[in-house]
Amino acid sequence: MSTVRVRFAPSPTGDLHVGGARTALFNWLYARHHGGSFVLRIEDTDAARSTEAATQVIIDSLNYLGLDWDEGPGKGGDYGPYYQSQRLDLYREYANKLMEKGRAYECYCSPEELDERRQEQIKLGQGTRYDGRCLHLTDEDKEKYRAEGRIPVLRFKALDEGETLVEDLVRGNVKFDNVTQVDDFVIFKSDGMPTYNFAVVVDDALMKITHVIRGEDHLSNTPKQIQIYQALGFAVPKFAHIPMILGPDKSLLSKRHGATSVTQFYDEGYLAEAMVNYLSLLGWGYDDSQTIFSTSELIEKFSLERVSKNPAVFDLQKLEWMNGVYIREQSLEELYAVALPFWQKAGFLPEEPNTEERDYALRILKELQSRLKLMAEVVELAEYFFKDDYEYKSEIVEKIMTKPHTEAVLDFVYDAVQAASKLDEETLKPQFKVGLETFGIKMGDLIQPIRVALTGTNVSPGIYDVLELLGKERVLERITRTKTMLKERELI
Ligand code: GLU
Repeated sequence: MSTVRVRFAPSPTGDLHVGGARTALFNWLYARHHGGSFVLRIEDTDAARSTEAATQVIIDSLNYLGLDWDEGPGKGGDYGPYYQSQRLDLYREYANKLMEKGRAYECYCSPEELDERRQEQIKLGQGTRYDGRCLHLTDEDKEKYRAEGRIPVLRFKALDEGETLVEDLVRGNVKFDNVTQVDDFVIFKSDGMPTYNFAVVVDDALMKITHVIRGEDHLSNTPKQIQIYQALGFAVPKFAHIPMILGPDKSLLSKRHGATSVTQFYDEGYLAEAMVNYLSLLGWGYDDSQTIFSTSELIEKFSLERVSKNPAVFDLQKLEWMNGVYIREQSLEELYAVALPFWQKAGFLPEEPNTEERDYALRILKELQSRLKLMAEVVELAEYFFKDDYEYKSEIVEKIMTKPHTEAVLDFVYDAVQAASKLDEETLKPQFKVGLETFGIKMGDLIQPIRVALTGTNVSPGIYDVLELLGKERVLERITRTKTMLKERELI
Protein backbone atom coordinates (compact mmCIF):
# COMPACT_ATOMS: atom_id res chain seq x y z
CA MET A 1 0.00 0.00 0.00
CA SER A 2 1.28 3.41 -0.86
CA THR A 3 2.23 5.73 1.96
CA VAL A 4 -0.52 7.95 3.21
CA ARG A 5 -0.27 11.57 2.08
CA VAL A 6 -2.89 14.05 3.20
CA ARG A 7 -3.17 17.79 3.08
CA PHE A 8 -4.84 20.75 4.69
CA ALA A 9 -5.65 23.34 2.04
CA PRO A 10 -7.12 26.47 3.61
CA SER A 11 -7.94 29.64 1.73
CA PRO A 12 -6.33 32.54 3.60
CA THR A 13 -9.33 34.84 3.64
CA GLY A 14 -9.96 35.30 7.36
CA ASP A 15 -9.48 33.71 10.73
CA LEU A 16 -9.05 29.97 10.98
CA HIS A 17 -12.47 28.72 12.02
CA VAL A 18 -12.79 25.74 14.38
CA GLY A 19 -14.22 23.78 11.45
CA GLY A 20 -11.01 24.37 9.51
CA ALA A 21 -8.93 23.49 12.53
CA ARG A 22 -10.90 20.27 12.95
CA THR A 23 -10.27 19.40 9.27
CA ALA A 24 -6.56 20.08 9.76
CA LEU A 25 -6.56 17.93 12.89
CA PHE A 26 -8.28 14.94 11.26
CA ASN A 27 -5.78 15.06 8.40
CA TRP A 28 -2.87 15.39 10.78
CA LEU A 29 -4.09 12.53 12.98
CA TYR A 30 -4.62 10.36 9.94
CA ALA A 31 -1.09 11.08 8.70
CA ARG A 32 0.48 10.50 12.10
CA HIS A 33 -1.51 7.32 12.69
CA HIS A 34 -0.29 5.85 9.40
CA GLY A 35 3.22 7.25 9.54
CA GLY A 36 2.39 9.28 6.43
CA SER A 37 2.88 12.91 5.45
CA PHE A 38 0.80 15.95 6.24
CA VAL A 39 1.04 18.76 3.69
CA LEU A 40 -0.03 22.35 4.20
CA ARG A 41 -1.12 24.15 1.05
CA ILE A 42 -2.32 27.73 1.10
CA GLU A 43 -5.00 28.16 -1.56
CA ASP A 44 -4.46 31.80 -2.32
CA THR A 45 -5.52 32.11 -5.93
CA ASP A 46 -8.38 34.43 -5.05
CA ALA A 47 -6.19 37.52 -5.04
CA ALA A 48 -9.01 39.83 -3.97
CA ARG A 49 -9.79 37.90 -0.80
CA SER A 50 -6.46 36.32 0.19
CA THR A 51 -4.17 38.17 2.58
CA GLU A 52 -0.74 37.53 4.05
CA ALA A 53 -2.12 38.31 7.47
CA ALA A 54 -4.67 35.51 7.14
CA THR A 55 -1.92 33.12 6.04
CA GLN A 56 0.03 34.04 9.14
CA VAL A 57 -3.04 33.43 11.31
CA ILE A 58 -3.38 29.94 9.82
CA ILE A 59 0.28 29.18 10.47
CA ASP A 60 0.12 30.56 14.02
CA SER A 61 -3.05 28.61 14.74
CA LEU A 62 -1.55 25.33 13.52
CA ASN A 63 1.60 25.99 15.54
CA TYR A 64 -0.48 26.67 18.63
CA LEU A 65 -2.35 23.39 18.18
CA GLY A 66 0.89 21.55 17.48
CA LEU A 67 -0.19 20.41 14.01
CA ASP A 68 3.14 20.35 12.23
CA TRP A 69 3.44 19.78 8.51
CA ASP A 70 6.08 17.69 6.86
CA GLU A 71 7.26 19.35 3.71
CA GLY A 72 7.13 22.36 1.48
CA PRO A 73 8.99 24.18 -1.23
CA GLY A 74 11.57 25.75 1.14
CA LYS A 75 14.95 24.32 1.91
CA GLY A 76 16.34 22.39 4.87
CA GLY A 77 14.32 22.62 8.06
CA ASP A 78 12.67 25.80 6.87
CA TYR A 79 10.01 24.44 4.62
CA GLY A 80 6.50 25.12 3.59
CA PRO A 81 3.79 25.79 3.26
CA TYR A 82 3.04 25.44 -0.43
CA TYR A 83 1.32 28.45 -1.97
CA GLN A 84 -0.91 28.02 -4.98
CA SER A 85 0.03 31.51 -6.12
CA GLN A 86 3.56 30.21 -6.67
CA ARG A 87 2.37 27.35 -8.84
CA LEU A 88 0.42 29.18 -11.54
CA ASP A 89 2.55 27.82 -14.39
CA LEU A 90 1.54 24.30 -13.45
CA TYR A 91 -2.15 25.05 -13.62
CA ARG A 92 -1.63 26.68 -16.99
CA GLU A 93 0.29 23.66 -18.22
CA TYR A 94 -2.48 21.25 -17.25
CA ALA A 95 -5.18 23.52 -18.61
CA ASN A 96 -3.36 23.40 -21.93
CA LYS A 97 -3.36 19.64 -21.77
CA LEU A 98 -7.11 19.68 -21.33
CA MET A 99 -7.44 22.02 -24.32
CA GLU A 100 -5.33 19.67 -26.43
CA LYS A 101 -7.57 16.78 -25.45
CA GLY A 102 -10.65 18.81 -26.34
CA ARG A 103 -11.71 18.82 -22.68
CA ALA A 104 -11.44 22.58 -22.14
CA TYR A 105 -12.55 25.54 -24.20
CA GLU A 106 -12.59 29.31 -24.15
CA CYS A 107 -15.84 30.95 -23.22
CA TYR A 108 -16.54 34.56 -24.09
CA CYS A 109 -19.97 34.90 -22.47
CA SER A 110 -20.12 37.98 -20.26
CA PRO A 111 -21.30 37.75 -16.63
CA GLU A 112 -24.43 39.71 -17.63
CA GLU A 113 -25.28 37.30 -20.43
CA LEU A 114 -24.73 34.34 -18.18
CA ASP A 115 -26.94 35.85 -15.55
CA GLU A 116 -29.70 36.56 -18.03
CA ARG A 117 -29.67 32.97 -19.24
CA ARG A 118 -29.63 31.70 -15.70
CA GLN A 119 -32.73 33.74 -14.90
CA GLU A 120 -34.38 32.34 -17.98
CA GLN A 121 -33.57 28.76 -16.89
CA ILE A 122 -35.02 29.47 -13.47
CA LYS A 123 -38.16 30.86 -15.06
CA LEU A 124 -38.55 27.72 -17.12
CA GLY A 125 -38.04 25.62 -14.03
CA GLN A 126 -34.79 24.15 -15.38
CA GLY A 127 -31.57 23.57 -13.50
CA THR A 128 -29.08 26.40 -13.86
CA ARG A 129 -26.10 25.30 -15.86
CA TYR A 130 -23.85 26.63 -18.57
CA ASP A 131 -25.52 25.95 -21.90
CA GLY A 132 -22.35 25.14 -23.85
CA ARG A 133 -22.77 28.10 -26.16
CA CYS A 134 -19.02 28.68 -26.64
CA LEU A 135 -18.13 25.02 -27.08
CA HIS A 136 -17.79 25.18 -30.83
CA LEU A 137 -16.54 28.69 -31.52
CA THR A 138 -14.51 29.13 -34.68
CA ASP A 139 -11.30 31.15 -34.75
CA GLU A 140 -13.23 33.96 -36.43
CA ASP A 141 -15.85 33.97 -33.65
CA LYS A 142 -13.12 34.25 -31.07
CA GLU A 143 -11.39 37.00 -33.04
CA LYS A 144 -14.64 38.93 -33.19
CA TYR A 145 -15.25 38.60 -29.45
CA ARG A 146 -11.73 39.69 -28.64
CA ALA A 147 -12.14 42.70 -30.87
CA GLU A 148 -15.16 43.59 -28.72
CA GLY A 149 -12.82 43.61 -25.74
CA ARG A 150 -14.10 40.38 -24.24
CA ILE A 151 -11.62 38.39 -22.21
CA PRO A 152 -12.34 34.66 -22.17
CA VAL A 153 -12.54 32.27 -19.26
CA LEU A 154 -11.64 28.64 -19.70
CA ARG A 155 -14.31 26.01 -19.17
CA PHE A 156 -13.95 22.31 -18.56
CA LYS A 157 -15.86 20.15 -20.99
CA ALA A 158 -17.71 17.97 -18.51
CA LEU A 159 -19.25 14.63 -19.35
CA ASP A 160 -22.76 15.06 -20.67
CA GLU A 161 -24.15 11.68 -19.87
CA GLY A 162 -23.96 9.08 -17.14
CA GLU A 163 -23.09 9.44 -13.52
CA THR A 164 -20.02 10.23 -11.48
CA LEU A 165 -19.56 8.07 -8.44
CA VAL A 166 -17.92 9.41 -5.30
CA GLU A 167 -16.76 6.54 -3.13
CA ASP A 168 -16.55 8.34 0.14
CA LEU A 169 -14.93 6.75 3.17
CA VAL A 170 -17.39 8.46 5.47
CA ARG A 171 -20.52 8.90 3.41
CA GLY A 172 -20.36 5.73 1.38
CA ASN A 173 -21.12 5.75 -2.35
CA VAL A 174 -22.67 8.99 -3.54
CA LYS A 175 -23.79 9.27 -7.17
CA PHE A 176 -24.00 12.50 -9.11
CA ASP A 177 -25.89 12.87 -12.35
CA ASN A 178 -23.52 14.28 -14.95
CA VAL A 179 -26.22 16.06 -16.92
CA THR A 180 -27.88 17.94 -14.10
CA GLN A 181 -25.17 18.11 -11.47
CA VAL A 182 -21.93 18.80 -13.33
CA ASP A 183 -21.94 21.49 -16.00
CA ASP A 184 -19.05 22.93 -18.02
CA PHE A 185 -17.60 24.83 -15.08
CA VAL A 186 -14.92 27.48 -15.25
CA ILE A 187 -11.36 26.33 -14.61
CA PHE A 188 -9.52 29.54 -15.41
CA LYS A 189 -10.99 32.96 -14.72
CA SER A 190 -10.63 36.00 -16.94
CA ASP A 191 -8.01 37.39 -14.54
CA GLY A 192 -5.77 34.46 -15.48
CA MET A 193 -6.19 32.69 -12.16
CA PRO A 194 -7.30 29.05 -11.87
CA THR A 195 -10.49 28.26 -9.98
CA TYR A 196 -10.51 26.20 -6.82
CA ASN A 197 -12.00 23.09 -8.48
CA PHE A 198 -9.22 22.98 -11.02
CA ALA A 199 -6.15 23.97 -9.00
CA VAL A 200 -7.10 21.59 -6.21
CA VAL A 201 -7.01 18.63 -8.60
CA VAL A 202 -3.71 19.57 -10.21
CA ASP A 203 -2.15 20.00 -6.77
CA ASP A 204 -3.63 16.95 -5.13
CA ALA A 205 -2.50 14.87 -8.10
CA LEU A 206 1.00 16.31 -8.38
CA MET A 207 1.48 16.21 -4.62
CA LYS A 208 0.42 12.58 -4.69
CA ILE A 209 -2.26 13.07 -2.08
CA THR A 210 -3.76 9.68 -1.25
CA HIS A 211 -6.69 10.81 0.91
CA VAL A 212 -8.64 14.02 0.60
CA ILE A 213 -10.19 14.63 4.02
CA ARG A 214 -12.29 17.79 4.13
CA GLY A 215 -15.61 19.30 5.16
CA GLU A 216 -18.82 17.89 3.78
CA ASP A 217 -19.56 21.24 2.15
CA HIS A 218 -17.12 20.13 -0.55
CA LEU A 219 -18.92 16.90 -1.40
CA SER A 220 -20.78 18.53 -4.28
CA ASN A 221 -17.47 19.71 -5.77
CA THR A 222 -16.09 16.22 -5.78
CA PRO A 223 -17.73 14.89 -9.00
CA LYS A 224 -16.34 17.90 -10.85
CA GLN A 225 -12.91 17.17 -9.48
CA ILE A 226 -13.14 13.47 -10.28
CA GLN A 227 -13.98 14.28 -13.90
CA ILE A 228 -10.84 16.41 -14.13
CA TYR A 229 -8.67 13.66 -12.63
CA GLN A 230 -10.05 11.29 -15.20
CA ALA A 231 -9.66 13.71 -18.09
CA LEU A 232 -6.01 14.27 -17.18
CA GLY A 233 -5.35 10.57 -16.59
CA PHE A 234 -4.52 11.10 -12.92
CA ALA A 235 -5.23 8.50 -10.24
CA VAL A 236 -8.26 9.54 -8.19
CA PRO A 237 -7.47 9.83 -4.46
CA LYS A 238 -9.75 8.49 -1.75
CA PHE A 239 -12.23 10.97 -0.35
CA ALA A 240 -13.53 11.40 3.19
CA HIS A 241 -16.05 14.17 3.75
CA ILE A 242 -16.36 14.94 7.41
CA PRO A 243 -19.57 16.25 8.98
CA MET A 244 -20.37 19.89 9.45
CA ILE A 245 -20.19 21.58 12.84
CA LEU A 246 -23.38 23.11 14.21
CA GLY A 247 -24.10 25.55 17.02
CA PRO A 248 -26.36 24.63 19.95
CA ASP A 249 -29.40 25.79 17.91
CA LYS A 250 -28.45 23.25 15.21
CA SER A 251 -27.65 25.86 12.59
CA LEU A 252 -24.17 25.94 11.04
CA LEU A 253 -21.64 27.13 13.60
CA SER A 254 -20.89 30.79 12.99
CA LYS A 255 -19.78 33.95 14.76
CA ARG A 256 -23.31 34.36 16.06
CA HIS A 257 -22.65 31.46 18.40
CA GLY A 258 -19.67 33.18 20.05
CA ALA A 259 -15.99 32.41 19.68
CA THR A 260 -15.36 30.34 16.57
CA SER A 261 -11.84 31.24 15.50
CA VAL A 262 -8.79 29.46 16.80
CA THR A 263 -7.21 32.82 17.60
CA GLN A 264 -10.04 33.65 19.98
CA PHE A 265 -9.60 30.38 21.82
CA TYR A 266 -5.88 31.00 22.04
CA ASP A 267 -6.48 34.47 23.43
CA GLU A 268 -8.85 33.16 26.05
CA GLY A 269 -6.26 30.71 27.24
CA TYR A 270 -7.39 27.32 26.03
CA LEU A 271 -4.57 24.82 26.25
CA ALA A 272 -3.55 23.26 22.97
CA GLU A 273 -4.07 19.73 24.33
CA ALA A 274 -7.61 20.57 25.40
CA MET A 275 -8.43 22.13 22.03
CA VAL A 276 -7.02 19.13 20.17
CA ASN A 277 -8.94 16.73 22.39
CA TYR A 278 -12.17 18.66 22.02
CA LEU A 279 -11.86 19.17 18.25
CA SER A 280 -11.15 15.48 17.76
CA LEU A 281 -14.60 14.69 19.15
CA LEU A 282 -16.37 16.87 16.61
CA GLY A 283 -17.39 14.08 14.29
CA TRP A 284 -15.18 11.32 15.63
CA GLY A 285 -15.44 9.14 18.71
CA TYR A 286 -13.71 6.05 19.97
CA ASP A 287 -16.48 4.59 22.04
CA ASP A 288 -19.43 5.90 24.00
CA SER A 289 -17.61 6.46 27.24
CA GLN A 290 -14.19 7.96 26.66
CA THR A 291 -13.90 11.73 26.21
CA ILE A 292 -10.41 12.53 27.45
CA PHE A 293 -7.70 11.55 25.00
CA SER A 294 -4.11 12.67 25.07
CA THR A 295 -2.73 13.65 21.69
CA SER A 296 -0.66 10.49 21.46
CA GLU A 297 -3.71 8.42 22.29
CA LEU A 298 -5.63 10.19 19.52
CA ILE A 299 -2.88 9.38 17.05
CA GLU A 300 -3.06 5.77 18.10
CA LYS A 301 -6.85 5.50 18.01
CA PHE A 302 -7.92 7.79 15.19
CA SER A 303 -9.51 6.18 12.15
CA LEU A 304 -11.84 7.36 9.41
CA GLU A 305 -14.14 4.38 10.09
CA ARG A 306 -15.17 6.02 13.31
CA VAL A 307 -15.99 9.36 11.75
CA SER A 308 -19.72 9.97 11.89
CA LYS A 309 -22.00 11.02 9.06
CA ASN A 310 -24.06 13.14 11.42
CA PRO A 311 -23.29 16.77 12.07
CA ALA A 312 -21.39 17.56 15.25
CA VAL A 313 -22.63 20.09 17.77
CA PHE A 314 -20.12 22.52 19.20
CA ASP A 315 -20.55 22.72 22.96
CA LEU A 316 -18.57 25.56 24.47
CA GLN A 317 -19.29 24.48 28.02
CA LYS A 318 -17.84 21.06 27.38
CA LEU A 319 -14.74 22.62 25.88
CA GLU A 320 -14.40 24.88 28.93
CA TRP A 321 -14.78 21.94 31.25
CA MET A 322 -12.21 19.98 29.28
CA ASN A 323 -9.79 22.86 29.45
CA GLY A 324 -10.12 22.85 33.24
CA VAL A 325 -9.36 19.13 33.27
CA TYR A 326 -6.19 19.72 31.29
CA ILE A 327 -5.16 22.69 33.41
CA ARG A 328 -5.32 20.50 36.48
CA GLU A 329 -3.16 17.87 34.82
CA GLN A 330 -0.39 20.26 33.90
CA SER A 331 2.82 20.62 35.83
CA LEU A 332 3.34 24.07 37.32
CA GLU A 333 6.14 24.70 34.84
CA GLU A 334 3.83 23.95 31.94
CA LEU A 335 1.16 26.23 33.34
CA TYR A 336 3.73 28.92 33.87
CA ALA A 337 4.69 28.81 30.21
CA VAL A 338 1.06 29.48 29.28
CA ALA A 339 0.38 32.03 32.02
CA LEU A 340 3.54 34.06 31.45
CA PRO A 341 2.42 35.89 28.27
CA PHE A 342 -0.86 36.84 29.96
CA TRP A 343 0.97 38.25 32.97
CA GLN A 344 3.51 40.00 30.81
CA LYS A 345 0.78 41.61 28.76
CA ALA A 346 -0.94 42.79 31.94
CA GLY A 347 2.36 44.28 33.11
CA PHE A 348 2.61 41.92 36.09
CA LEU A 349 5.88 40.33 35.01
CA PRO A 350 8.78 41.68 32.96
CA GLU A 351 10.00 40.40 29.60
CA GLU A 352 12.53 38.17 31.34
CA PRO A 353 11.47 37.32 34.88
CA ASN A 354 14.28 36.55 37.31
CA THR A 355 14.35 33.42 39.45
CA GLU A 356 12.58 35.07 42.33
CA GLU A 357 9.77 36.37 40.13
CA ARG A 358 9.43 33.00 38.49
CA ASP A 359 9.26 31.17 41.81
CA TYR A 360 6.66 33.58 43.07
CA ALA A 361 4.62 33.04 39.90
CA LEU A 362 4.85 29.27 40.30
CA ARG A 363 3.58 29.52 43.87
CA ILE A 364 0.64 31.62 42.72
CA LEU A 365 -0.18 29.08 40.02
CA LYS A 366 -0.12 26.31 42.57
CA GLU A 367 -2.90 28.11 44.41
CA LEU A 368 -4.92 28.95 41.28
CA GLN A 369 -4.57 25.68 39.40
CA SER A 370 -7.67 24.09 40.88
CA ARG A 371 -9.91 27.06 40.06
CA LEU A 372 -8.92 27.96 36.53
CA LYS A 373 -11.08 27.14 33.55
CA LEU A 374 -9.45 29.50 31.06
CA MET A 375 -5.86 30.56 31.36
CA ALA A 376 -6.85 34.15 30.58
CA GLU A 377 -8.40 34.18 34.07
CA VAL A 378 -4.92 34.24 35.59
CA VAL A 379 -4.89 38.00 35.07
CA GLU A 380 -7.96 38.81 37.12
CA LEU A 381 -7.42 36.07 39.68
CA ALA A 382 -3.81 36.99 40.37
CA GLU A 383 -3.90 40.75 40.07
CA TYR A 384 -3.57 41.43 43.80
CA PHE A 385 -0.57 39.11 44.03
CA PHE A 386 1.32 41.34 41.66
CA LYS A 387 -0.11 44.80 42.24
CA ASP A 388 -0.10 46.64 45.53
CA ASP A 389 -2.61 49.17 44.28
CA TYR A 390 -5.28 46.54 43.67
CA GLU A 391 -8.83 47.84 43.68
CA TYR A 392 -11.34 47.12 46.39
CA LYS A 393 -14.65 45.81 45.10
CA SER A 394 -17.13 48.34 46.46
CA GLU A 395 -20.07 46.01 47.00
CA ILE A 396 -17.87 43.58 48.88
CA VAL A 397 -16.37 46.31 51.04
CA GLU A 398 -19.92 47.48 51.83
CA LYS A 399 -21.01 43.98 52.71
CA ILE A 400 -18.09 42.75 54.74
CA MET A 401 -16.19 45.72 56.10
CA THR A 402 -19.18 47.36 57.73
CA LYS A 403 -19.66 44.59 60.24
CA PRO A 404 -18.93 45.24 63.93
CA HIS A 405 -15.33 44.81 65.06
CA THR A 406 -13.87 45.27 61.57
CA GLU A 407 -11.28 47.79 62.64
CA ALA A 408 -10.44 45.90 65.81
CA VAL A 409 -10.06 42.66 63.84
CA LEU A 410 -7.73 44.34 61.36
CA ASP A 411 -5.64 45.74 64.19
CA PHE A 412 -5.59 42.43 65.94
CA VAL A 413 -4.42 40.55 62.84
CA TYR A 414 -1.85 43.26 62.17
CA ASP A 415 -0.31 42.64 65.57
CA ALA A 416 -0.51 38.86 65.26
CA VAL A 417 1.21 38.93 61.89
CA GLN A 418 3.86 41.31 63.09
CA ALA A 419 4.66 39.07 66.03
CA ALA A 420 4.56 35.80 64.07
CA SER A 421 7.72 33.98 63.11
CA LYS A 422 6.00 32.45 60.07
CA LEU A 423 2.73 33.22 58.30
CA ASP A 424 1.57 29.66 57.93
CA GLU A 425 -1.58 28.09 59.28
CA GLU A 426 0.21 26.27 62.06
CA THR A 427 1.63 29.48 63.49
CA LEU A 428 -1.24 31.85 62.88
CA LYS A 429 -4.38 29.84 63.47
CA PRO A 430 -3.89 29.47 67.24
CA GLN A 431 -3.26 33.21 67.45
CA PHE A 432 -6.39 34.01 65.47
CA LYS A 433 -8.40 31.75 67.78
CA VAL A 434 -7.46 33.94 70.69
CA GLY A 435 -8.99 36.87 68.84
CA LEU A 436 -12.22 35.00 68.22
CA GLU A 437 -12.80 34.70 71.94
CA THR A 438 -11.92 38.31 72.60
CA PHE A 439 -14.42 39.59 70.02
CA GLY A 440 -16.95 36.83 70.39
CA ILE A 441 -16.92 36.09 66.64
CA LYS A 442 -16.47 33.06 64.41
CA MET A 443 -13.40 32.26 62.31
CA GLY A 444 -15.19 33.37 59.15
CA ASP A 445 -15.85 36.81 60.63
CA LEU A 446 -12.13 37.20 61.15
CA ILE A 447 -10.98 35.77 57.87
CA GLN A 448 -13.40 37.60 55.62
CA PRO A 449 -12.29 41.16 56.43
CA ILE A 450 -8.66 40.06 56.24
CA ARG A 451 -9.25 38.57 52.84
CA VAL A 452 -10.88 41.76 51.60
CA ALA A 453 -8.02 43.77 53.08
CA LEU A 454 -5.35 41.70 51.36
CA THR A 455 -7.00 41.07 48.02
CA GLY A 456 -9.74 43.67 47.54
CA THR A 457 -12.26 40.90 47.06
CA ASN A 458 -13.84 37.95 48.83
CA VAL A 459 -12.73 35.08 46.62
CA SER A 460 -9.17 33.93 46.86
CA PRO A 461 -7.12 30.88 47.66
CA GLY A 462 -6.97 29.86 51.34
CA ILE A 463 -6.16 32.80 53.57
CA TYR A 464 -2.99 31.28 55.00
CA ASP A 465 -1.71 30.64 51.49
CA VAL A 466 -2.40 34.25 50.61
CA LEU A 467 -0.66 35.46 53.78
CA GLU A 468 2.39 33.32 53.14
CA LEU A 469 2.61 34.30 49.50
CA LEU A 470 2.39 37.99 50.19
CA GLY A 471 4.83 37.91 53.09
CA LYS A 472 4.86 39.91 56.30
CA GLU A 473 5.84 43.28 54.95
CA ARG A 474 3.18 43.43 52.28
CA VAL A 475 0.49 42.04 54.57
CA LEU A 476 1.15 44.79 57.10
CA GLU A 477 1.20 47.46 54.40
CA ARG A 478 -2.05 46.19 52.97
CA ILE A 479 -3.83 46.22 56.30
CA THR A 480 -2.71 49.81 56.79
CA ARG A 481 -3.77 50.72 53.24
CA THR A 482 -7.17 49.13 53.85
CA LYS A 483 -7.71 51.08 57.04
CA THR A 484 -6.91 54.31 55.22
CA MET A 485 -9.41 53.38 52.53
CA LEU A 486 -12.11 52.58 55.10
CA LYS A 487 -11.51 55.90 56.86
CA GLU A 488 -11.72 57.78 53.56
CA ARG A 489 -15.02 56.10 52.86
CA GLU A 490 -16.07 56.85 56.42
CA LEU A 491 -16.77 53.21 57.15
CA ILE A 492 -14.69 53.17 60.32
N1 GLU B 1 -9.40 25.92 -0.14
C1 GLU B 1 -10.50 25.06 0.11
C2 GLU B 1 -11.21 25.52 1.36
O1 GLU B 1 -10.63 26.23 2.16
C3 GLU B 1 -9.99 23.65 0.26
C4 GLU B 1 -11.03 22.61 0.19
C5 GLU B 1 -10.40 21.24 0.01
O2 GLU B 1 -9.87 20.73 1.02
O3 GLU B 1 -10.40 20.74 -1.08
O4 GLU B 1 -12.36 25.24 1.56
